[in-house]
Amino acid sequence: MAGYDTEYDVIVCGGGTSGVAAAISAARTGAKTLVIERTGCLGGQMCVSGPPGFAYARLFNTYGEQDTAGFVEETHARLYKAGHAWPHYHPKHRVPAAYTFSYVDPEWWMLMIFNMMEEEGVDLLIDSLVVGAVKDNDTVKGVLVENADGRREIKGKIVIDCTGEAYFANYAGAETVCVDVEDIQPHTISFTADGVDWDKLLTYINRNPEQFEYQQLLHRASDQTKEDVYKAYSKVVDIRELGEVMGFKDLRDAALKNGDWHPFSGAGFFLQPKEGGKILAHFQHSSHWDKTLPTDAWALSRCHIECRKQIQIAWRFFKNYVPGFENAYIVKISTELRLREGPRIVGDYVLNRDDVINTRQFSDTIGKSSFPAGAYHTANVNT
Ligand SMILES: Cc1cc2nc3c(=O)[nH]c(=O)nc-3n(C[C@H](O)[C@H](O)[C@H](O)COP(=O)(O)OP(=O)(O)OC[C@H]3O[C@@H](n4cnc5c(N)ncnc54)[C@H](O)[C@@H]3O)c2cc1C
Repeated sequence: MAGYDTEYDVIVCGGGTSGVAAAISAARTGAKTLVIERTGCLGGQMCVSGPPGFAYARLFNTYGEQDTAGFVEETHARLYKAGHAWPHYHPKHRVPAAYTFSYVDPEWWMLMIFNMMEEEGVDLLIDSLVVGAVKDNDTVKGVLVENADGRREIKGKIVIDCTGEAYFANYAGAETVCVDVEDIQPHTISFTADGVDWDKLLTYINRNPEQFEYQQLLHRASDQTKEDVYKAYSKVVDIRELGEVMGFKDLRDAALKNGDWHPFSGAGFFLQPKEGGKILAHFQHSSHWDKTLPTDAWALSRCHIECRKQIQIAWRFFKNYVPGFENAYIVKISTELRLREGPRIVGDYVLNRDDVINTRQFSDTIGKSSFPAGAYHTANVNT
């Protein structure tokens, strides 16, 4: 029975993508497992704010071979079968950069995860904030939570910090680091829109391919050029092959001149699948503002307020300047400011540049990615 008297083999703090994967994996080994989540949903940034399916980016290498599987493939396959994901798209112009997306509907992803938790026998304590560590000298014995029952203790043999911001590690006294404020990536409030005339937008893209970002599709391991990317954009017939739509350079510059844009963000959005082949536009509108430290609550509040202003500017731009958005409307604005950079746990071993260059293998690997975003602390896109 789930409850405060149960001693768990594994307690996972945070039910984001990493937390639910850790919990399901632990439960499959027979461990009595609990997930504690502060919000009412599972999936973390994947559902609360992130681009739909960002966890499913870059599943293919530069040869177009799928090289990431496991939990990612299992959940994509399950949602695809249920009609809540698009197939793995690996169009010719994205493969050479190993930058493909396999989109899933984030709302259904979250519902599927609730089902999987039940199937795997994982206990859930929702709307509960982990506020401290229970320790016996240097050994972690459990967690302190605050929820409708007040402040309570739950015992666990192993506690995994999946809060995304190393909260539990901090409470337990483990070493954490935070990126210097000058290097911080922008915090973001996302929003989603419906009512876009996709045919009209695609016609604009086909006719103006040079208006869109191409750098992310160049890779030092391939000879694809800017011109190749433009050619591909001019011929795309299914907008889903684009993955993300970023650029609108002349339109954005014109808007900047007219005071209808701000200098803190590029213009663009991701695609979000919905039932019946419908597509929503999902915006990751970033603040790029004030270099806000992720550990400064007042600065984060100011950033929150700024992001809400920027959303209104961005929306004015899309409605008034971008073909296809004339009758579009916002359907959802994230309740949370999300952080790309937060405090990190300093592990027993820290990856270095040589490890990346030499593709060093580790026996305790728990994840795999070819995504260089955020990796500039260790390596970077030129590695
Ligand atoms: C705007 C944005 C864009 C991104 N784009 C991409 C992308 O394109 N591709 C990509 O791969 N990654 C992207 N990322 C990164 C990606 O979102 C993260 O790597 C991923 O979400 C990390 O998953 P996680 O489970 O560790 O943390 P999270 O998703 O943050 O989940 C943490 C969970 O812990 C819960 N929690 C936190 N504190 C507590 C507490 N004290 N008690 C209980 N529960 C708690 C939270 O509510 C949340 O559910 C992006 C991130 C952001 C913010």
